[in-house]
Amino acid sequence: MSLPSGNSTPLAPGSSPLSRAVSTVLPLLLLLLGPMVSVSSAQIIKEQRTMMGTEIEFTVSTENKEAAEAAFDAIEAEFERIESVMSEWKAGTAISEINDMAGKGTVEVTDELFMLLAVAKEVATLTGGAFDPTWAAMRTIWDFRPGSERIATKEEITAALGLIDYRQILLDQESMTVGLEKKGMALGLGGIAKGYAVDRAVEILVEKGLGNAIVKAGGDMRVQGERVPGKKWKVSIKHPRKEGNLATLGLKNLSISTSGDYERFFIKNATLYHHIIDPKTGYPASKCQSVTVLAPDTMTSDALSTAIFVLGPKKGLELARMLKGVEVIIVDSSGKVLTSKGVELH
Ligand code: ADP
Ligand code: MG
Repeated sequence: MSLPSGNSTPLAPGSSPLSRAVSTVLPLLLLLLGPMVSVSSAQIIKEQRTMMGTEIEFTVSTENKEAAEAAFDAIEAEFERIESVMSEWKAGTAISEINDMAGKGTVEVTDELFMLLAVAKEVATLTGGAFDPTWAAMRTIWDFRPGSERIATKEEITAALGLIDYRQILLDQESMTVGLEKKGMALGLGGIAKGYAVDRAVEILVEKGLGNAIVKAGGDMRVQGERVPGKKWKVSIKHPRKEGNLATLGLKNLSISTSGDYERFFIKNATLYHHIIDPKTGYPASKCQSVTVLAPDTMTSDALSTAIFVLGPKKGLELARMLKGVEVIIVDSSGKVLTSKGVELH
């Protein structure tokens, strides 16, 4: 943009002290406004797509809508790839191969899967098995899908409990192999893989120059960069029982995951049965209504929200205190809201 020039304009240099001052200040002002003018042409693009059986929501602040669309396509392909490796429900995935070989032998895996399983086992160790990827020995005796609800019998639970033990996940870094000690054991990554996929999605966005974005996959979310310079993205946490939100937080370069008993559940004989299983009892965990975890990456926030849901408020808050960069918001079974020190709810 150019300033009006020539003696005919009221702001011509030398016409008065005031106009002289304005004529020096104005270019400076426009210089400062310059970046804002270009940023204001950025638009917020929102899009929902179903991937890995979950509704994925993208929110991107960009001037380049085409680049965003291309990135969403790339992310869709990446989610399909992750599912084809990590699903415990589909035949032929690396996880299904490991499960098929339980008690019989080990399977060589990629660095990526080895890393994810190592993190899953670490969270299991850290939480004394509240989070345990071998919970999947129970994946067929419980069913929380609408229309096919199923409560496991006592006998089934007793039998499956003997097959849940993260210490019997065999990880050999030298040979990059994974195995399960006993026949009938199984790995299930439902409590961590979605968070990992969200991290990959955001990596793809950042690589493509779309570093101001939110990716939300069900209860797992990464908040990257800013909405506009100097303005944080705002995200809301749903109240587990009431209409509306528990809290709204301004976040930047953080991951946030919520595990709730209201996400996938059914009610039978006045009892609520939901999809987060306490590996100690074999029944849905009952100490919380919802747990929201803030962490440096989504793989971690995902696994920890499931883990703390099982641990309950007391041990959950202790764990959050121990872990750097981790904060937690818990709604306990009575509806009381508890938060770790770094969280302020408005
Ligand atoms: P969502 O998948 O709805 O985001 P969570 O992240 O809390 O919810 O994960 C729940 C999923 O994790 C379950 O659907 C199941 O696949 C798996 N899971 C259930 N109980 C456990 C557990 N104790 N440890 C690890 N994974 C679990
Ligand atoms: Mg989780």
